[in-house]
Amino acid sequence: MSEIILLSDNDKNIKTIQKYLPLHIITVFQQKDGVLEYIKNKTPEVIIVDTVGMKDAVNVCRAIKFDTQMQNIGIILIVDKKQKNKDFLKYASSYISKPIDKDILNATLNSVILTKHSLDELSESNSALSTSLYRLDELNKTITALAGSLDKSKIIEIMTSGIEKFLSYQLCYSLVFNDPLDITLSINSLHPISPRLEEAIKLRAIYSYKNLFNIHTTKEDIKVIKNIKRPNDFEYDLNILVPAKFDTVFAPINVKDKFFGIIEVFREKEFNKNVDVIAFQTLVKQATFPLQSAILYEEIKEQNDKLEEMEKKKSEFFSIVSHELRTPLTAIKNAITILLSGNIPNIPDRVVLFVKMIERNSEKIFSIVQEWLDSAKAETGKLDYNFTVANINPLVDSVKQSLSNLADEKNIDFTVNKTENIPALYIDTKRIEQVITNLVSNALKYTKNGGKITITTELTEAEMLKEKPFSKDKDRVLSDEYVVVKVSDTGDGIAKENLEKVFEKFEQVNGTLSRSVGGTGLGLFIAKQFADVHDGFLWVESVVHKGSDFYLAIPVLTEDERFEMQLRHDISNANSDKKSFGLITLCENKLTDKPYLVEFIRKLDCENIFKKSTDSKYFYTETKENLYYSFYDVNMNIQIFNFVIQRIKDFAQKDKNLQNGKKIYLSHVNYPDDAGDAEELMNQSKKQLKEVING
Ligand code: ADP
Repeated sequence: MSEIILLSDNDKNIKTIQKYLPLHIITVFQQKDGVLEYIKNKTPEVIIVDTVGMKDAVNVCRAIKFDTQMQNIGIILIVDKKQKNKDFLKYASSYISKPIDKDILNATLNSVILTKHSLDELSESNSALSTSLYRLDELNKTITALAGSLDKSKIIEIMTSGIEKFLSYQLCYSLVFNDPLDITLSINSLHPISPRLEEAIKLRAIYSYKNLFNIHTTKEDIKVIKNIKRPNDFEYDLNILVPAKFDTVFAPINVKDKFFGIIEVFREKEFNKNVDVIAFQTLVKQATFPLQSAILYEEIKEQNDKLEEMEKKKSEFFSIVSHELRTPLTAIKNAITILLSGNIPNIPDRVVLFVKMIERNSEKIFSIVQEWLDSAKAETGKLDYNFTVANINPLVDSVKQSLSNLADEKNIDFTVNKTENIPALYIDTKRIEQVITNLVSNALKYTKNGGKITITTELTEAEMLKEKPFSKDKDRVLSDEYVVVKVSDTGDGIAKENLEKVFEKFEQVNGTLSRSVGGTGLGLFIAKQFADVHDGFLWVESVVHKGSDFYLAIPVLTEDERFEMQLRHDISNANSDKKSFGLITLCENKLTDKPYLVEFIRKLDCENIFKKSTDSKYFYTETKENLYYSFYDVNMNIQIFNFVIQRIKDFAQKDKNLQNGKKIYLSHVNYPDDAGDAEELMNQSKKQLKEVING
């Protein structure tokens, strides 16, 4: 039977309505105070509000309609035709006018009750729909989050919190097995759990685990992580495990064919087999895919670390062996020099011949050992480079001179085509000569008697390099011009599929041939590293049986670019050796010329201070309006650094020339605290340029 509350202050009306609605339970409410509280508790189907007898009726009706718990309650108003204020009508479901007619009252009541029932049904399905949507959304979010992680414990965490959002559980535990010594029991609970319950969960988890995976583990091996939502609330005890009190769902976490763990969830409200259980299983299943990737990732990472370690050990081994071999080899070479110097009388010719053979062969061993050393050092960035401004042609001449004999021995036509007036480069001459020597030695090795070898030097625009696929590999911008050294031979050539391979370590593309001509397979690998250090390129174009063209392209750098390249090397060296670093840039507008600046520095004794260290560098850079003079030191402590700055400032204050209008700007950057890399260091320095005279 529906309950109806009648709000009225009028005894006559109360009596009439009670008489007209005998079958309904009617609660009469006459006091205004606490009326809303009363209605909320009773949640009647309908309220009849006698607006004639109640002054506050409008407010009561409004409050009911705006309350989410009460808004479905039907409101029937009793109104008087003479009433002026009809405001409350908008909150009512229906109204009847006085005098109250029995039939009209009953009909209105029935229709309001019917409407209320329909409204209730609608709200129920609405709220079910929004709950489903919320859960679907959470399911989606969890699955997306799972896909983005490669960390095993994070994946379990995402899965557990996803399940919590979906199932609103009271307690959930997961036992995750990484290896026999790393087993974690994570307990997520709404309330604190008693020590007895914790022990029981441990045993329950181990028991389920053993049954599933036949793995022997004891509760002492298990690490427990607890996450309690409301730590100050009452404690859960063993009763949570009583089936009649809490419903549970359980799932194993299998990763491919490997076992990984188990998960069990407890909830007071029974799980719905079609929705809750399926969603739970879906989430656990979804977690296994990223878990699989995470396990694979860990395995690959482990393998990679091992490989890296082995590679490091191999390089170290090469360095040590090469070092050890070099010492006795040097002694042998010295002994040979003495034997062949002519200072020792009466050495038979036959012996001289043998000694010469020993000399040739020890030279070979020496160069192999040198290659090993260079390759190990180049790889670990430990080679020192000594960049200077130099022309490429003399290096080509020197290579020609040292290898002409070998060419003559094989009756090879060996020529050099140099471009005269070629721009100077910023290079380590020793290393670049080593590269050209290597290219020509190879050409000699792989060219048959009577063949032809040509070295050409020429200036090329960057356009020519842009067409080459390798130029895209470099993240640095191409320079405008390059000097290219080309070594061409009419030898065996290299098959297309091996063109890239020849630059790899220990790579000899034709094993048998190489064995017959000797070699370590390191020469081109080292040459490529040297080209890289110069921001250059090394590549080969070849046709089998016709011959090969090896190219070395080195950028022609402006003063500014030279400075930056040098700075880059010095910074990386300073970085690896954990040295301090000071960069000072002086900038003057072009009223004066360079010698003045040199003088300026000299007067300050800056040169002396800088020269004390071996790693000082000086550079001029000219722009349209300004002239920069930058100098830096790779091993300068902060005291010296500040001292130099102070001297420059003092000098600038006193100097008459400067006060007559010439301006000097100064900036200083201290590495490694202030800057990240060379370019940044330069930019910072330029940005910070301050006029010294004005402070
Ligand atoms: P190696 O010490 O074996 O000469 P390199 O690194 O200098 O080592 O060369 C690697 C491989 O490249 C050689 O073993 C050879 O197969 C091939 N190669 C190099 N230069 C030439 C060339 N001019 N003609 C044909 N093949 C060459």
